[in-house]
Amino acid sequence: MSSASSSSTPKLSNNKAFKLFLIQKARQMNASLKDTNFIIDMRNEWKMMSFSEKSVSVPMNDMNEVTNRSKELDDFDRENEIKPKNFAEMLVINMLKDKNKEELMDLPIYLMSSCIQCVVNETYLPLEIGIVEYTIKHGIRRTYHSFIKCGPIPCGYAYSAISHKDAYHKIPLGNFDLASDDFQAIGNAVLDLIKSGQKDFLKKNPRNSLVVFSAEDQIKQNQGVLKWLASKYTTTDDNNDSIYGNKSAQDWDIEVFDISCLLLEIFKQMGISRSPVECKNDMTNTCYDYSPDTDCNYHEDIECIYCGLGWAKRLAYMMSESLIKRLRFEPFPTHFPKREYVKFAYQHFFNCGQQPIDNNNNVDDGKEINWSKIFENEFKDKLKNDGSNH
Ligand SMILES: [Zn+2]
Repeated sequence: MSSASSSSTPKLSNNKAFKLFLIQKARQMNASLKDTNFIIDMRNEWKMMSFSEKSVSVPMNDMNEVTNRSKELDDFDRENEIKPKNFAEMLVINMLKDKNKEELMDLPIYLMSSCIQCVVNETYLPLEIGIVEYTIKHGIRRTYHSFIKCGPIPCGYAYSAISHKDAYHKIPLGNFDLASDDFQAIGNAVLDLIKSGQKDFLKKNPRNSLVVFSAEDQIKQNQGVLKWLASKYTTTDDNNDSIYGNKSAQDWDIEVFDISCLLLEIFKQMGISRSPVECKNDMTNTCYDYSPDTDCNYHEDIECIYCGLGWAKRLAYMMSESLIKRLRFEPFPTHFPKREYVKFAYQHFFNCGQQPIDNNNNVDDGKEINWSKIFENEFKDKLKNDGSNH
């Protein structure tokens, strides 16, 4: 149901709309806004809502409540500020250390997401993995994606696996032609990708660990998925001969780190003031949830946003948005989905001070400058190539 808008029913920003949703739900469910699990559940529910459900206009008194309770929510955010994650954080600081702005812009960063069948005694059984190689300057450079045949549902886990599938990823739990059990090929592809940009870093860090980044709520799962892949990759057969002998377990020393911490460290290194909570908000931006050409073909076809590849790419989009707004570098079609790319490229076009002054060529009906046309001409080659690198 949508309410009619009037001057007393302002449209909310995405962040405020979420806060209002949170407050209303807490009221309905008699839940505390300090309950981390409640907030996580509500974030998940929010992600499932359509754009029109999210963008409902609200009466003024509800707006006042958002304003009044913002402090409470900010306190919650502050209490849950990103805490040092010891070894992993030390690795990231090490990774960025001594790099100037140009070097940071060119640094390959690996973003990961996954979908699982179920969790059995801390073992995460993977169904899909997506990894994106990203640099601040060039956006998404390479991607890796695979469906994984992790085997039949373990005894006693059918209900949780099926309900998880129905609520989220919708990947068939058996007889799925697109899934692979060639763990050697999957392992080689994963390691080759994430090692390729971390050669220098490997030499510098004490344990030769590799680093990938993911959404905070997927860290444990992604660690579990990598651990599972590593166990398959280094499995030995009955004759004790190594099946996958060309890489060792050492290669699988991969730390999964919170992407918002990386963003924070990048800003710090670039001398830009940005708080942990702001970085966290930037990396939980829901505006890319329904961007086309983001998910893998299977998920795109069934219109399901819970895609391993899709979420890795969304992390890249969110990072691009946060960084581009503050560093004002030129966006490429590899930074964003097409629609957002056009918007950011348009903004960059104005911000970078290259506004055309030749009114004779760019005047629309002799009255107004046709900025869209100028923009279209300026970026037509890039738009033509859009998507070719994804
Ligand atoms: Zn997918």
